Amino acid sequence: MKKCLICESPIEPFMSFGKMPIANGFLSLDQFANECFFELKVAFCSNL
Ligand SMILES: [Zn+2]
Repeated sequence: MKKCLICESPIEPFMSFGKMPIANGFLSLDQFANECFFELKVAFCSNL
């Protein structure tokens, strides 16, 4: 995602919280090896 969800202006990430698993993804033991992670970054829209 590189655009503001409201005005679709370009946004710039300024902080990363690293690789995070999907919320509410309650895996069984055999699914651990294929767990999906994504980089959780915070960005803001400067279009006021
Ligand atoms: Zn915006």
